[in-house]
Amino acid sequence: MRICIFDDQRIGALAQDGTIVDLTDLVPQNTAADERMNSLISHWEELKSTAAERVATGGGAAEGSVQLRAPQPRPRNLFAAPVNYHKHQQEMGGDAGVYTGRQIMTAEVRKGFLKAVTSIVGPDGAIELPWEDRRFDHEAEIGVIIGRTASRVSAEDALDYVFGYTPLLDITLRGEEDRSFRKSFDTFTPIGPYIVTADEVPDPERLDFWLTVNGEERQRSNTSYLIYGIARLIEVYSEVMTLQPGDIIATGTPEGVGQIVPGDTVVLTIPEVGELAMPVVARS
Ligand code: MN
Repeated sequence: MRICIFDDQRIGALAQDGTIVDLTDLVPQNTAADERMNSLISHWEELKSTAAERVATGGGAAEGSVQLRAPQPRPRNLFAAPVNYHKHQQEMGGDAGVYTGRQIMTAEVRKGFLKAVTSIVGPDGAIELPWEDRRFDHEAEIGVIIGRTASRVSAEDALDYVFGYTPLLDITLRGEEDRSFRKSFDTFTPIGPYIVTADEVPDPERLDFWLTVNGEERQRSNTSYLIYGIARLIEVYSEVMTLQPGDIIATGTPEGVGQIVPGDTVVLTIPEVGELAMPVVARS
């Protein structure tokens, strides 16, 4: 199932007839608008058969007539993997690297960091670059949405804790500031347009994906090249922190990262999960 947030923070799903069917009434009426996806995910086992019936029936709003927003606007935590592809490690360090002469350590050493959840933006928004004199980069990633409370989960069981997947961009300021600071500006975590539920992604450890800027390909890889695969990331993070329903993990980016400037359009395509197109603008 492809689940979205649309218009006035309503929950929707892409139906078999191509329309967006409304699922907002499946969560309690007094749920805060930006908490609806957390509520849906927390109660998904009880709700999914009703949702599936509506997707089969269809008759919702035309996809083009609604405004698709970030499909998970308010996770409690947004975890992210640093340098999690070997070829990205190579391009970041060394004589010709982004951080010249440095030894760049991978997720095997650095493990993970947190991004501010307020950095999330959807396909209805734009990537807003705050400063003209600094370099900001695109990072193409797979976003993993946690489905149920996960504490000390083994890699073997980890994928059972996944609700779904979404295209995710980890926009990054290059420089000396801490990772959490450099990657937490408002609008620096575009996601969407849909969360594809895990049952429709049988092998998340083997997903092709690529990123273009203004139509020119910059990144292309497959999740099979991840140093810490998705299951291993859940194992590593859940050993330390309790992962909660609706939490997001940004799984890391492959080689090909590069600068974006106002006026660019960034498109991330993951054939089995979706395509996210984001304009880049200067912060006004
Ligand atoms: Mn990243």
